[in-house]
Amino acid sequence: MKCPCGCGRTIELLVIEEAKPRWDLDLDAGGLPSLSPSVWLTSGCKSHFWLKRGKVIWV
Ligand SMILES: [Zn+2]
Repeated sequence: MKCPCGCGRTIELLVIEEAKPRWDLDLDAGGLPSLSPSVWLTSGCKSHFWLKRGKVIWV
């Protein structure tokens, strides 16, 4: 996914069971994705946000 702050960075999130750190990706009935836990970039733009039902919620 692209970083939602607009910096153009591509964020790679691992959703496979064995990965660390990893995220849980849920799709609701409408196909909207939710991620948990939140995404926090420790370098670059330092974005910290949740993805809930396809919407970015900034921390
Ligand atoms: Zn960014």
